[in-house]
Amino acid sequence: MAVLPIRKFPDPLLKSPTRNVLKLDDQIKRLIQAMIATMRHYPHCVGLAAPQVGSEYRIAVMDVSGHPKAEKPHGLLVLINPIVMEYGPREKVGREGCMSVPDFTGNVPRAMKLRLRAFDQTGSPQDWTLRGFEAVVAQHEIDHLDGLLFLDRVERVGSDVFRRKTYR
Ligand SMILES: [Zn+2]
Repeated sequence: MAVLPIRKFPDPLLKSPTRNVLKLDDQIKRLIQAMIATMRHYPHCVGLAAPQVGSEYRIAVMDVSGHPKAEKPHGLLVLINPIVMEYGPREKVGREGCMSVPDFTGNVPRAMKLRLRAFDQTGSPQDWTLRGFEAVVAQHEIDHLDGLLFLDRVERVGSDVFRRKTYR
Protein backbone atom coordinates (compact mmCIF):
# COMPACT_ATOMS: atom_id res chain seq x y z
CA MET A 1 0.00 0.00 0.00
CA ALA A 2 1.38 3.34 -1.04
CA VAL A 3 2.27 5.91 1.57
CA LEU A 4 0.51 9.19 0.80
CA PRO A 5 2.34 12.53 0.84
CA ILE A 6 1.52 14.75 3.84
CA ARG A 7 0.15 18.26 3.25
CA LYS A 8 1.98 20.86 5.28
CA PHE A 9 0.90 24.20 6.75
CA PRO A 10 0.02 26.64 5.12
CA ASP A 11 -1.65 24.36 2.55
CA PRO A 12 -5.20 25.78 2.22
CA LEU A 13 -6.78 22.31 2.37
CA LEU A 14 -5.73 22.13 6.03
CA LYS A 15 -7.90 25.17 6.73
CA SER A 16 -11.01 23.88 4.94
CA PRO A 17 -13.85 22.05 6.70
CA THR A 18 -14.45 18.54 5.36
CA ARG A 19 -17.62 16.98 3.97
CA ASN A 20 -19.37 13.92 5.29
CA VAL A 21 -18.93 10.55 3.63
CA LEU A 22 -22.30 9.58 2.15
CA LYS A 23 -21.40 6.12 0.89
CA LEU A 24 -18.66 3.74 1.98
CA ASP A 25 -17.67 2.86 -1.59
CA ASP A 26 -14.43 1.39 -2.94
CA GLN A 27 -12.83 4.81 -3.36
CA ILE A 28 -13.46 5.63 0.31
CA LYS A 29 -12.29 2.18 1.43
CA ARG A 30 -9.05 2.60 -0.54
CA LEU A 31 -8.53 6.04 0.97
CA ILE A 32 -8.96 4.61 4.50
CA GLN A 33 -6.48 1.79 3.82
CA ALA A 34 -3.96 4.28 2.40
CA MET A 35 -4.43 6.53 5.45
CA ILE A 36 -3.79 3.59 7.79
CA ALA A 37 -0.69 2.62 5.80
CA THR A 38 0.56 6.21 5.90
CA MET A 39 -0.01 6.48 9.66
CA ARG A 40 1.80 3.17 10.22
CA HIS A 41 4.69 4.25 8.02
CA TYR A 42 5.70 6.99 10.46
CA PRO A 43 6.82 5.37 13.72
CA HIS A 44 5.59 8.18 16.02
CA CYS A 45 2.37 8.95 14.14
CA VAL A 46 -0.70 8.19 16.27
CA GLY A 47 -3.35 9.74 14.06
CA LEU A 48 -4.04 11.11 10.61
CA ALA A 49 -6.94 13.10 9.16
CA ALA A 50 -8.02 13.04 5.52
CA PRO A 51 -7.14 16.70 4.76
CA GLN A 52 -3.53 15.91 5.69
CA VAL A 53 -3.34 13.56 2.72
CA GLY A 54 -5.22 15.83 0.34
CA SER A 55 -8.79 14.58 0.78
CA GLU A 56 -11.82 16.65 1.70
CA TYR A 57 -13.71 13.81 3.42
CA ARG A 58 -14.57 13.70 7.12
CA ILE A 59 -12.39 10.70 7.96
CA ALA A 60 -9.65 10.21 10.53
CA VAL A 61 -7.64 7.18 11.59
CA MET A 62 -5.80 6.82 14.86
CA ASP A 63 -4.00 4.24 16.96
CA VAL A 64 -2.29 5.10 20.21
CA SER A 65 -1.45 1.47 21.15
CA GLY A 66 2.06 1.19 22.46
CA HIS A 67 2.42 4.91 23.12
CA PRO A 68 3.85 5.50 26.60
CA LYS A 69 1.09 8.01 27.45
CA ALA A 70 -1.78 5.73 26.40
CA GLU A 71 -3.89 3.96 29.03
CA LYS A 72 -6.24 1.20 27.90
CA PRO A 73 -6.35 2.29 24.26
CA HIS A 74 -8.88 0.92 21.77
CA GLY A 75 -6.28 0.04 19.13
CA LEU A 76 -6.98 1.12 15.57
CA LEU A 77 -9.92 3.52 15.33
CA VAL A 78 -11.33 4.50 11.95
CA LEU A 79 -13.60 7.52 12.43
CA ILE A 80 -15.98 8.28 9.58
CA ASN A 81 -18.11 11.44 10.00
CA PRO A 82 -17.14 11.71 13.68
CA ILE A 83 -18.97 14.05 16.04
CA VAL A 84 -18.16 14.81 19.65
CA MET A 85 -21.21 14.03 21.79
CA GLU A 86 -19.73 15.16 25.08
CA TYR A 87 -16.55 16.60 26.49
CA GLY A 88 -15.49 15.52 29.97
CA PRO A 89 -15.26 18.27 32.60
CA ARG A 90 -11.51 18.04 33.18
CA GLU A 91 -9.06 19.85 30.89
CA LYS A 92 -5.32 19.55 30.79
CA VAL A 93 -2.67 21.40 28.83
CA GLY A 94 -0.28 19.14 26.92
CA ARG A 95 2.42 19.50 24.26
CA GLU A 96 1.23 18.59 20.75
CA GLY A 97 2.92 18.15 17.43
CA CYS A 98 1.56 17.48 13.97
CA MET A 99 3.02 16.01 10.78
CA SER A 100 1.46 18.95 8.92
CA VAL A 101 3.25 21.46 11.15
CA PRO A 102 6.66 19.76 11.33
CA ASP A 103 8.70 22.68 12.66
CA PHE A 104 6.67 23.51 15.76
CA THR A 105 5.00 22.05 18.83
CA GLY A 106 2.47 23.79 21.04
CA ASN A 107 0.82 23.73 24.46
CA VAL A 108 -2.85 22.94 23.91
CA PRO A 109 -5.69 22.60 26.45
CA ARG A 110 -7.82 19.50 25.81
CA ALA A 111 -10.62 17.63 27.54
CA MET A 112 -9.36 14.47 29.23
CA LYS A 113 -12.48 12.50 28.32
CA LEU A 114 -14.54 12.43 25.18
CA ARG A 115 -17.69 10.70 24.03
CA LEU A 116 -17.58 10.28 20.30
CA ARG A 117 -20.00 9.04 17.68
CA ALA A 118 -18.77 7.92 14.28
CA PHE A 119 -19.15 5.22 11.66
CA ASP A 120 -16.43 2.59 11.72
CA GLN A 121 -14.72 1.12 8.67
CA THR A 122 -17.54 -1.40 8.18
CA GLY A 123 -20.05 1.46 8.08
CA SER A 124 -21.57 0.65 11.49
CA PRO A 125 -22.38 3.52 13.83
CA GLN A 126 -20.32 3.40 17.03
CA ASP A 127 -20.11 5.31 20.28
CA TRP A 128 -16.71 5.45 21.89
CA THR A 129 -15.63 6.88 25.21
CA LEU A 130 -11.97 7.87 25.05
CA ARG A 131 -9.77 8.96 27.91
CA GLY A 132 -6.45 10.64 28.46
CA PHE A 133 -4.00 10.64 25.57
CA GLU A 134 -6.42 8.81 23.28
CA ALA A 135 -9.04 11.52 23.89
CA VAL A 136 -6.44 14.21 23.14
CA VAL A 137 -5.47 12.58 19.85
CA ALA A 138 -9.13 12.28 18.81
CA GLN A 139 -9.68 16.01 19.50
CA HIS A 140 -6.58 16.87 17.45
CA GLU A 141 -7.78 14.73 14.51
CA ILE A 142 -11.38 16.01 14.65
CA ASP A 143 -9.99 19.55 14.67
CA HIS A 144 -8.29 18.75 11.35
CA LEU A 145 -11.71 17.75 9.99
CA ASP A 146 -13.05 21.16 11.04
CA GLY A 147 -10.16 23.01 9.39
CA LEU A 148 -8.31 23.68 12.64
CA LEU A 149 -4.67 23.06 13.55
CA PHE A 150 -3.19 22.92 17.05
CA LEU A 151 -1.80 26.39 16.29
CA ASP A 152 -5.41 27.64 16.39
CA ARG A 153 -5.89 26.14 19.87
CA VAL A 154 -2.93 27.51 21.79
CA GLU A 155 -3.79 30.27 24.22
CA ARG A 156 -0.88 32.57 23.40
CA VAL A 157 1.20 32.11 20.25
CA GLY A 158 4.06 34.06 21.86
CA SER A 159 4.54 31.69 24.79
CA ASP A 160 2.77 28.43 23.84
CA VAL A 161 4.37 27.62 20.48
CA PHE A 162 7.86 26.17 20.31
CA ARG A 163 10.25 25.61 17.45
CA ARG A 164 11.34 21.98 17.31
CA LYS A 165 14.98 21.48 18.14
CA THR A 166 15.00 17.77 17.45
CA TYR A 167 12.96 15.53 15.22
CA ARG A 168 11.94 12.27 16.78
ZN1 LIG B 1 -2.20 16.93 13.11
